[in-house]
Amino acid sequence: MTTYIAPIEDMMFLFEKLRNNKNYNELEKYKEVTPDLVKNILEEAAKINQNIILPLAKSGDENPTILENGIVRTPPGYKEAYKKFIEDGWTSLSCDPKYGGQGMPKTVSAFFDEMLSASSLSFKLYSELSIGAYNCINQHGTDSIKNKFLPKMVEGKWSGTMCLTEPVCGTDLGLLKTKAIEQKDGTFKISGQKIFITSGDQDLTENIVHLVIARSPDSPPGTKGISLFLVPKFIVKDDGSIGSRNGVSTGSIESKMGIKGSATCVLNFDNAEGYMIGPKNKGLNSMFTMMNLERIVVGIQGLGISEIAYQNSLNYSKERKQGKSNNSKENNDADFIIEHADIKRSLLNMKSIIEGERALCFWLSQQTEVSLYHTDQNTRKEASDLVSLMTPVVKYFFTDMGMEITSDAMQIHGGYGYTKDQGIEQLYRDNRITPIYEGTNSVQAIDLVFRKLSNKNGDIINKYINLIKEDLKISGEKIKPFIKKMDQNIELLSKFSDWIKGKIKNSKDDASAASNEYLKVLGLIAIAHAWVKILEVSFKDYENNKKFYEDKIQTANFFFNRVLPRVESYYLTATSGSKYIMDFKFN
Ligand SMILES: Cc1cc2nc3c(=O)[nH]c(=O)nc-3n(C[C@H](O)[C@H](O)[C@H](O)COP(=O)(O)OP(=O)(O)OC[C@H]3O[C@@H](n4cnc5c(N)ncnc54)[C@H](O)[C@@H]3O)c2cc1C
Repeated sequence: MTTYIAPIEDMMFLFEKLRNNKNYNELEKYKEVTPDLVKNILEEAAKINQNIILPLAKSGDENPTILENGIVRTPPGYKEAYKKFIEDGWTSLSCDPKYGGQGMPKTVSAFFDEMLSASSLSFKLYSELSIGAYNCINQHGTDSIKNKFLPKMVEGKWSGTMCLTEPVCGTDLGLLKTKAIEQKDGTFKISGQKIFITSGDQDLTENIVHLVIARSPDSPPGTKGISLFLVPKFIVKDDGSIGSRNGVSTGSIESKMGIKGSATCVLNFDNAEGYMIGPKNKGLNSMFTMMNLERIVVGIQGLGISEIAYQNSLNYSKERKQGKSNNSKENNDADFIIEHADIKRSLLNMKSIIEGERALCFWLSQQTEVSLYHTDQNTRKEASDLVSLMTPVVKYFFTDMGMEITSDAMQIHGGYGYTKDQGIEQLYRDNRITPIYEGTNSVQAIDLVFRKLSNKNGDIINKYINLIKEDLKISGEKIKPFIKKMDQNIELLSKFSDWIKGKIKNSKDDASAASNEYLKVLGLIAIAHAWVKILEVSFKDYENNKKFYEDKIQTANFFFNRVLPRVESYYLTATSGSKYIMDFKFN
């Protein structure tokens, strides 16, 4: 079985030393949420994740969720763990105190999300979509809907789902067939089939609040005719108690490659009672509130799984002896594999990406808070632009790196990584869904290129580049080589962005074919930017914590010399254009 120690020291380093980011320190929450409070929360979070949730990862994989006589049964141990999970208030961490939440900022909930993803992604998914649904209802629901549903969701007694996908519509939601017929009393009857619905049914909560997209008969075709509905599993009476069963049933659950403890359901809606959320035909806009935040959380899933894969690889390479290393002085015994340059390279590759991602995610969480809560409208808009630019990057890059890192972790474990004993192959299988759901990674790249860099939004990337340039105005001999590399990469990013913008206008296939590489370039540079912030503190504060900062400086050196240069090859690949792709005819 895998082991896991929550990386609290690194999280607290970010919280204490990189908290003072521009605009974020003007928020009320900044003052109220002290490092002591956060440390206490993280220590408690580590206990439940390490002791109670981590063991569920293996049991959930070996005893997948089943559908038995119409009832979805979660794996052994899930019910007890979920009861403790909600009793301890973990579902309410980032929710509004008005509905019983603890009102913690996203910086803190992101740390918790990382720990939970590392411990058991399957278990996490039972509460993850509830938080997403909570956010959507909170932003777009009427007061009466909010008062009726949100307190129980925040408490974790009711859960939430996101029902978009249908047999004929995945990426292209405009093709959806589910119907919504308005009733005299203003409610709707929803009919249709949704597939692949995470936590669509389970035996953990008293009720399930489905957020369903559907089309009214008089609505236009395509995405412009989609509305959003809240459809509970059980009708909720006016006094808030649970009434009769609604017309939603589980047709089947999927048998999957990974996250086997998570119920992925086919849901049949048969004249189910539903209530419209937000304006008619603007359902996708409302749903995007949920999806955009979820995309960042899916990125964090990749980060959490990468962390546990790294920790186990590091431990294993300190225990496993094979061969002689180049610098070995002893003649007889084999060396621990961590002595081999190639294994060290692989471990540092993981570590430098993970720590950079964590810092980038911390910054993005701060910007999300600014975009939601800053008192100045322009500041909110500026932050919101940055968040919208970085959302597809975090979703794609972190989950993609999760594949690289879990694959490398298997490699470090050799044959024992491929067999079930160590639990490493499960990390690879569990992570494999993250580049697919919540909008495939290629679709994230297309979103980045065609929406975020389009004429309307074309200056977001320049604003981001200028922001990095501002942050690079740091003096000091030791940081100079890093700044120099950043300058070169920023120049290349500008050049690449201009090339893409030109292609969007003149040759869309070139832009499409370059989109994956463009996103990876932006991802690598964003992580390098995060490393610069870490380095700035590390050099300044060096004497106060030499061991910690030396580790950071050396890891940054690896990133800048062995990971960041990938930028150039992505640029060269992408700017070769689409000719050799589009001219080819498959037989
Ligand atoms: C375990 C699991 C859990 C899920 N949970 C949920 C959930 O809770 N709620 C929910 O609604 N859905 C859920 N999904 C569905 C998931 O979001 C979709 O599978 C995903 O969005 C892709 O849709 P699709 O499978 O129909 O693939 P398609 O849309 O058919 O895509 C197939 C391929 O074509 C590519 N492609 C599609 N369009 C374009 C384009 N315009 N340009 C370039 N390439 C394109 C895609 O990138 C992909 O590689 C889940 C799926 C799984 C497997």
